[in-house]
Amino acid sequence: MSANSSIEWPDVTWNPVTGCTKISDGCRHCHAERMALRLQRMGVEKYHEGFSVAVHESALGQPAAWKKPRLVFVNSMSDLFHRAVPGPFIERVFEVMNRFPRHTFQVLTKRLGRAVQLAGRLDWTPNIWFGVSVESRRWLGRLPLLKKTGAHVRYLSLEPLLGPLPVLELNGIDWVIAGGESGPGARPMAAEWVRATRDRCTRLGVPFFFQAVGWSIQEKDRSDARWPGLEPDAGEVVT
Ligand code: SF4
Repeated sequence: MSANSSIEWPDVTWNPVTGCTKISDGCRHCHAERMALRLQRMGVEKYHEGFSVAVHESALGQPAAWKKPRLVFVNSMSDLFHRAVPGPFIERVFEVMNRFPRHTFQVLTKRLGRAVQLAGRLDWTPNIWFGVSVESRRWLGRLPLLKKTGAHVRYLSLEPLLGPLPVLELNGIDWVIAGGESGPGARPMAAEWVRATRDRCTRLGVPFFFQAVGWSIQEKDRSDARWPGLEPDAGEVVT
């Protein structure tokens, strides 16, 4: 994807792995955890272990069944590079992505260290878009690791954005998405954090996409004029 391409939204999620553990600030109100526990209560077999990490062999065949090209979000209910996911299984997930170039796969992780460790064993075909979550300046160190993976298309997810990012190195980043936190207990996001990032992206020609203000601010400040030019224009990535 060139730096000037428009950002597209996944039309399907694919979860060969489910479950995770919290690793940083952005995980506090993990949407996947809430969803997994709800599905467990509903008796859905895939989630019988709730939010414990589990791999699903049966899911590996799904992309073959999608005959039309799809934009696929990989592991909306987990983090593919979680330490509990065996390396050989991650390789198999990549092999599936390699085998179906008609689909585009979006992989997002907070575990760049493991991704870099395994990178040489994985085939980073151009249909794999690889992203990293950075929720505050504390986690900016993940960003340079993204370039060590061999991914052709690299993106940055600033979601939920929990603080300002005064030093954001965007060299080699194809697009950026930002958004506030949703759900019970959502933490607020300041408009100036988003504006500063948007302006930096604009200066450098990096497509910037604003996902959503977030629940708490939307509810408190629905009529507030602090958000001009930052209106959300898409639904959630995770379905
Ligand atoms: S890494 Fe993602 S899936 Fe895992 S706990 Fe954090 S927010 Fe949830």
